[in-house]
This record gives sequence, C-alpha cells and structure tokens, in this order.
Amino acid sequence: MSTFQRATYAMSVHDPALFPPNDGSEVAFAGRSNSGKSSAINALTGRRRLAHVSKTPGRTQTINFFSLEEHRFLVDLPGYGYAAVATGEKRHWKMLIGAYIQSRLALRGLIVVMDARHAFGPLDGQLLEWIKPRGLACHVLLTKADKLSARERSAARLEAERAAQRLTAGSCSLQFFSSKTGEGVDTARGVIVRWLDAK
Ligand code: GDP
Repeated sequence: MSTFQRATYAMSVHDPALFPPNDGSEVAFAGRSNSGKSSAINALTGRRRLAHVSKTPGRTQTINFFSLEEHRFLVDLPGYGYAAVATGEKRHWKMLIGAYIQSRLALRGLIVVMDARHAFGPLDGQLLEWIKPRGLACHVLLTKADKLSARERSAARLEAERAAQRLTAGSCSLQFFSSKTGEGVDTARGVIVRWLDAK
C-alpha cells in the first residue's frame, strides 16, 4: 500500500493551541470553496470519502489533519471565498490560517488548488502573499482540467504561468489536474512525497 492510501482522518482543529505536535512533516492544501480541493485530496489518497469530513457542518472552518504515518500529515485548510460567510467567520479563517502558516515548522509545502478556469483570483493572491515571508514551497493544481478544450488549456496554462511569475516570482510550480480522470495524480503525489521526505 502506498503512503497515500494509508491516509486516515486524525483530527479537526479550530484553535491554534490545539495543533498536533510540530515535529514531523506535513503538506497543506488550500483553495477557494468549490475549487475541487476535497476531490483532489480524495483522488490523491485514493480514498473516495476521506475529505468528506471537511464538508460536514461545523468542520468547514476547521483545519483537518489526515495522518499518513507517524508524524506525517496531509492538512486540509478551510476553503475561502464563500460569499455567504459572516465577517466573524472570515476573521476566524484569517487568524487560523495565519497562525497555521506562521507556526507550523512541520509544514514543508503548500498545495494551492484552483479551478483551471478561474485560477489566481484575488484570494489566491492573498494566500500566496502570506506564505512569501516563510519562503515556503508551493505547487498549484489547476483542477477540473477535464472540462477544458485543448485551446482553453493552452490559454489557461499561459495565463496561470504569468500570474504565478507575477505573484510568486516563479517560486510556485503548477500542473493540470483532474480528480475525474486521474490526470496529474501521479505528478502531484511525486511533489508531495518529495516535500515530505525533505529534511
Ligand atoms: P471543494 O469545495 O474545493 O472541496 O470542492 P469539491 O471537491 O467539493 O468540488 C466542487 C465541485 O466540483 C463538485 O461538484 C465536484 O464534483 C466538482 N469537481 C471537483 N473536481 C473535479 C474535476 O477534476 N473534474 C470535474 N469535472 N469536476 C470536479
């Protein structure tokens, strides 16, 4: 069984004081609501309902930890950009993600999930700003790639590469991804394993 298939739900945290021990290695997933983040986590782990927990009422604003093996986690950060979210919840989201990004020494890299048709929106840009001071590695999954024609794909790639260059000065790699067809799953797994294995 691969590392990914061993993923099990570990815990949901809404308070930075309750984060698990900070001495292992982990990779976090961020993205707008509806970008396909849960589907991507499920596709990567080969566990169809794993990230379902992140959708259960009361857990949408928590950081959800999935354990791969001892001291190794995949971490699902709460989705952003949900118009209906109240101001208090937005503040909580900022506090929680800010604290997570600043404090987690275990964090090796950030996977940013974006719908390939609407990549690098203002909120994605804000998130990328936050990770800059830490010089954290990032990798963008341009999801729902199965919905794009060849022509749309070329345009989306060009635009995403330009935006990545502008916003991250080239420190963020990117790829197409589809949880529906499995496109890009192996490539993304490769990036994550490399990060988790890095000392
Ligand atoms: P999240 O809110 O970011 O966790 O997004 P979800 O994973 O729940 O996906 C949002 C919607 O997009 C759902 O209806 C999914 O079925 C759909 N979706 C997610 N990934 C893909 C994909 O790769 N291809 C297609 N065609 N639909 C997708």
